[in-house]
Amino acid sequence: MINFNVPPFTGKEIDYVRQAVENQKICGDGPYTKMCSEWIEQKTGTAKCLLTTSCTHATELAALLADIHEGDEVIMPSYTFVSTADAFVLRGAKAVFVDIRPDTMNIDEKLIEAAVTPRTKAIVPMHYAGVACEMDEIMRIAKAHSLMVIEDAAQCIMASYKGKALGTIGDFGCYSFHETKNLSMGEGGAILIKDGKYIEDAEIIREKGTNRSQYYRGQVDKYRWLNYGSSYLPSDMNAAYLWAQLELANEITDARLERWEQYNEQLQPLKERGLLELPHIPEGCVHNGHMYYAKAKDIEERTRLLDFLKENGIWSVFHYIPLHSSPAGIRFGEFRGEDRYTTADSERLFRLPMFYSLKESEVDYITGKVKEFYKV
Ligand SMILES: *Cc1c(COP(=O)(O)O)cnc(C)c1O
Repeated sequence: MINFNVPPFTGKEIDYVRQAVENQKICGDGPYTKMCSEWIEQKTGTAKCLLTTSCTHATELAALLADIHEGDEVIMPSYTFVSTADAFVLRGAKAVFVDIRPDTMNIDEKLIEAAVTPRTKAIVPMHYAGVACEMDEIMRIAKAHSLMVIEDAAQCIMASYKGKALGTIGDFGCYSFHETKNLSMGEGGAILIKDGKYIEDAEIIREKGTNRSQYYRGQVDKYRWLNYGSSYLPSDMNAAYLWAQLELANEITDARLERWEQYNEQLQPLKERGLLELPHIPEGCVHNGHMYYAKAKDIEERTRLLDFLKENGIWSVFHYIPLHSSPAGIRFGEFRGEDRYTTADSERLFRLPMFYSLKESEVDYITGKVKEFYKV
């Protein structure tokens, strides 16, 4: 069986986790956490990176910093993972869903402005598969209407838009290091903060509403409860695992991109015959090989294809059930404008196995089976 995902592992993780244990610093904000966040700051150019317990929590932290309240509206795609919406509806906001563009499956930037009302507080672009949304236009709209931009960059480590790292363009950017992402720490994530004025508040909210971060740096002689907050800092053992991955970030990304290109090349004949739609990478976007997806004719064909692949030992999956048609989406959100592509394309899309240790010969086998299904 070729799994759909295998968590990335480079070989050094166990040594570093052991080192974290020997450091007798297994709670949050130990040496590995510091190394990881500084690495991300250098790599992306963000003013500040704080590791978190997940991307979901990074987004919750962003929603708190953006001062999202009951009655606010937050614009996002419906074709996304639940966490994109959860963080904002937890604060009492309404999720306002806008249609996607079929070429990238990202929010259609041309439809955002029509969804803005006096209640709109933020736009949350999600960069699907590590391929950037049209951020120039999204930032223009945000500026024109004084909105915050929080990038759901969960899938985006090592990806960029016009030379800027994804997650650094909006006010806040949120990464995931879940085991299904390119680089992992089991469960974990990070928030990137563009404007230094939010750093102190972010540190306080992340540390249960206290200034313990300042206390650890020796800036204050005791720490106190200063604001509302939660516990969003991961254990240094998890950060140690991530450190091994960051050290090999280029290698891991290159390996994924190689497999991505291989899929893309080998499936071209199906695209040329109009049997499958393949991903599009717009000009200016550097992606990270997070995902290889394609679109079948309809849901019935997709179901037969996934069954055929499973019979041949290949685990291929689909996602997302659009949020606006999910029970919570109906309760907490509203689709604004026409649903031209969200539902229709989510029923056609499927993902092929993609992970660091995926072999060239396995991709040969998988694309061979897809061709066999389509009799090409
Ligand atoms: C994985 C993912 C998340 C959630 O990440 P966690 O670290 O598991 O909280 C959020 N948004 C998108 C688009 C994702 O792919």
